[in-house]
Amino acid sequence: MKKVMAMLLATVLCVATFTACGSEETGSKGTGTAPESTVSESTQAGSEAEGDAASVETITAGVLTVGTNAAFPPFEYIGDDGEPAGFDIALIKAIGEKMGMEVKVQDMEFGSLVAAIGNKIDVAIAGMTITEERKESVDFSDSYYEAVQYVIVLPDSDIATAADLENKSIGVQLGTTGEIIAEDITGANVQSYDKAVDAVSDLINGRVQAVIIDKNPAEVFASKFEGKVVALDGAQFAFEPEQYAIALPKGSPLAEKVNAALAELKADGTFDALVQEYIVAE
Ligand code: GLN
Repeated sequence: MKKVMAMLLATVLCVATFTACGSEETGSKGTGTAPESTVSESTQAGSEAEGDAASVETITAGVLTVGTNAAFPPFEYIGDDGEPAGFDIALIKAIGEKMGMEVKVQDMEFGSLVAAIGNKIDVAIAGMTITEERKESVDFSDSYYEAVQYVIVLPDSDIATAADLENKSIGVQLGTTGEIIAEDITGANVQSYDKAVDAVSDLINGRVQAVIIDKNPAEVFASKFEGKVVALDGAQFAFEPEQYAIALPKGSPLAEKVNAALAELKADGTFDALVQEYIVAE
């Protein structure tokens, strides 16, 4: 397991090179989408050459504007070039390529993503779990990854079961499924952080006694802070599996295009290659 974590970290560290395949990302767009926000009235001219998918209405014609929260390794983090990188970013770029669309990635707070879909961003990819509550506001693509919440604790902690989490101080990332789970724990004092790494720092500093976060980031943090924290499998806390998917505007024709591209990437081996490259098969 230790070895896997080391490999995972090594993978995370070396993936910066992969961004070479990407198009431009965030940066140039400021906060606004206003100038192009009315494109929905017309069929966007000049995009036929890109194929059918590029003719889907987006905030900026021919561009898939993607929101993420680049603080969730190995799915998304800031690469050495200062731009968002990671499995999700590579995946959405590959999806955009299949759709004949340029992909631009905007980094924002995780808790702002759902509300931004359809106005600031076309889609969100952020290790986002499909939940009933989110489905009231957005649609989801087909699932692309199964995860589960993990529990990060200090190496000498006696926390090992769901009952042990009761009445504890628990750090989580704001607006996440980890936060929802923590809030359901009897007597838990839940501390929510914008960035998961800050929750882990507070665990190390003794301000919280456990951090609940998705499996792969938990393993990355356990590896990054080796000897200081350990990541415990959510199965021992009876946490349910979760499905990651791309969030899209409700009723958007983008869903079909994104799902078709995802299916193609699965069929042609690209998806598995990205899993190997970024997540590392255990
Ligand atoms: N999978 C979790 C959720 O959807 C956490 C995602 C994240 O922090 N990027 O809430």
